[in-house]
Amino acid sequence: MSSSSTTPQATVHGYPRQGPNRELKKAIEGYWAGRVSAEVLRVTAADLRRDNWHRLAEAGVTEVPTGDFSLYDHVLDATVAVGAIPPRHRAAVAADPLDGYFAMARGTQDVAPLEMTKWFDTNYHYLVPELGPDTVFAANSTKAVAELREALALGHRGRPVLLGPVSYLLLAKPAPGVAADFQPITLLDRLLPVYAELLADLRAAGAEWVQLDEPALVQDRTPAELNAAARAYRELGAVTDRPKLLIASYFDRLGKALPVLAKAPIEGLALDFTGPAAANLDDLAAVGGLPGKRLVAGVVDGRNIWINDLEKSLSTLAVLLGLADRVDVAPSCSLLHVPLDADRERDLDPQVARWLAFARQKAAEAALLARGLGEGASAITAELAANRADLASRAASALTYDPAVRARTAATTAADARRAQAYPERAEAQRTRLGLPLLPTTTIGSFPQTPELRTARADLRAGRIDAAAYRERMEAEVREVIAYQEKAGLDVLVHGEPERNDMVQYFAEQLTGYLATRHGWVQSYGTRYVRPPVLAGDISRPEPMTTDWYRYAQGLTDRPVKGMLTGPVTMLAWSFVRDDQPLAETARQVALALRDEVTDLEAAGAAVIQVDEPALRETLPLRAADRAAYLAWATEAFRLATSAVRADTQIHTHMCYAEFGAIMTAIDDLDADVISLEAARSHMQVAGELAEAGYPREVGPGVWDIHSPRVPSTEEAAGLLRAGLAAIPAERLWVNPDCGLKTRGWSETRASLGHLVAAAREVRAELTG
Ligand SMILES: [Zn+2]
Repeated sequence: MSSSSTTPQATVHGYPRQGPNRELKKAIEGYWAGRVSAEVLRVTAADLRRDNWHRLAEAGVTEVPTGDFSLYDHVLDATVAVGAIPPRHRAAVAADPLDGYFAMARGTQDVAPLEMTKWFDTNYHYLVPELGPDTVFAANSTKAVAELREALALGHRGRPVLLGPVSYLLLAKPAPGVAADFQPITLLDRLLPVYAELLADLRAAGAEWVQLDEPALVQDRTPAELNAAARAYRELGAVTDRPKLLIASYFDRLGKALPVLAKAPIEGLALDFTGPAAANLDDLAAVGGLPGKRLVAGVVDGRNIWINDLEKSLSTLAVLLGLADRVDVAPSCSLLHVPLDADRERDLDPQVARWLAFARQKAAEAALLARGLGEGASAITAELAANRADLASRAASALTYDPAVRARTAATTAADARRAQAYPERAEAQRTRLGLPLLPTTTIGSFPQTPELRTARADLRAGRIDAAAYRERMEAEVREVIAYQEKAGLDVLVHGEPERNDMVQYFAEQLTGYLATRHGWVQSYGTRYVRPPVLAGDISRPEPMTTDWYRYAQGLTDRPVKGMLTGPVTMLAWSFVRDDQPLAETARQVALALRDEVTDLEAAGAAVIQVDEPALRETLPLRAADRAAYLAWATEAFRLATSAVRADTQIHTHMCYAEFGAIMTAIDDLDADVISLEAARSHMQVAGELAEAGYPREVGPGVWDIHSPRVPSTEEAAGLLRAGLAAIPAERLWVNPDCGLKTRGWSETRASLGHLVAAAREVRAELTG
């Protein structure tokens, strides 16, 4: 193969949109509230783009992405660019494109927004395109062209980024009213001319290259879908007067899509070489490389926050150099999934801060690697030495290596992750201890987060009240929540979690090995940003985390109060996790810390302990071949956390969704005594699925859809219960809402729970005659 003819360059697939102080969030929310004009919002956004490009250029990135910036979501931007505006939003978009755009994102009083779902296995959420056989596409290159022109005018070499046509269709769903089995990919032939037009417009505006993102091709794809990809790029490749095409893949290996794209008449391919995508390296060699093409090598992990192992990356790049005509260096995916700038984390131990690389640092790493690749490692000797020292300090740190934690995980056996008694024996012991009625009622954990609670938290942060005063306010809330539940007639109570800011952060703050950032915001969706904790070291629990609150709440009532914990998989999924050991090992450490908490709750008197795992399914690997291994360690971690209890202590778990397909066996492997899950919207379908799978334990399929402000009537809840009874015997059926009540108001909570308890009584009476 020809050796590289061009000096390696650095680039990135995309950059965080928020601004150093979340200026974008403030401007957009100000616009929604009528405080900020459209013009001020436009200028704020343009300023942020200018600053981003400037930062990238300063870091040594010579080709900057354009069009990746978004006021809400890049998939929604693609929907606008291809003119797939749902009919219900057309009037709003015609009246005012900006307001129409936000109407699609958030809905209005009269029209529902587009559905939102997770962007692959990240914690970002996109707006799902709604397509049908009648969808008519029309190119709208306004945004893409304007943002390219901005970059060019500022003197940058801009590379427009668009979501590719195959991924756009594969991420879409049938529009309301369209048959559920409609496959949006069948619209490909209609969509390709629109992409050709977008490409021509970008070429005319001065684009040399355009990046088309095709992340959907890293998932398992049918032969028909792979054929669609082949056809798409054969046709777009044949378009005359188009820019050069860089097809970007990320989050996993391309697998069977790699030979398809390698053969396509396009000019460049971006591949991820981190994590499970590292398999791209061998796969690329196996297909004979990319002769005559440009390879953008994603060797810097674009979705975690640790510094790169530069020497390791250089050796990967050296191999790649022989596999393509030109090799450039980039983070593995858009930097949207990491915070902006690690240099601002001044509260961290300076030594620990040196292990972190956020977007700005990752861009600089890519630039440094491009230089090392082009000029030889000797050109970056000092940087390599500093990197080696930082990696060594991380490996040797007491934070990342706690001998006591290591000894304990090493001594863990399979038996530790098994309850001592089989389920039937436990069920009997629990029935005797708890003495619950048939169809027992409970809630999932949280009660409404009132303005008063948020004020108390703000007051504590601002120093207006002290910890004792804060605790008093929280205790008052717990008293109210317990009293309410007793009066409402619920059987198993919760304390309502007023003291918890977040179900992961609350525990992260109390566990050794976790770090908190000050400015580590990442976009979850739209203007919602989260600041995930950093799981940086070996995990241990210096002292009990929840037993005081449990004792306080249980002291107020004779009915059982649930101990409430977040499970190990969720603790990992909603954090930045360490990349220097297998996830299974990290999960085991977290599980052992939780096991201590479970044991302490039991010792404090808790007869029911709930360990939530809402993230179990969302962390599922993108490729089916990787799933069994993941589910094995994930379910083992849950059992390790929950197996030390006596037979008569009842373990509950909760999941926030109704589609279990791929993880049905895993649900069973958790061996929880009771599982509560979402079911109201799907009319108890999940109860039937569990029954069909032979699920042997107790189930609480939700009878109140808490994602809607609607109050279900007693009749409606009773109807759902009867539907549940058709699948699950009464001795194993619980009555509860779909999820926690944190986002609901008190008035709807009172009304709905009142109906839920009444429905349970009504159906119970039917059963007992
Ligand atoms: Zn939930």
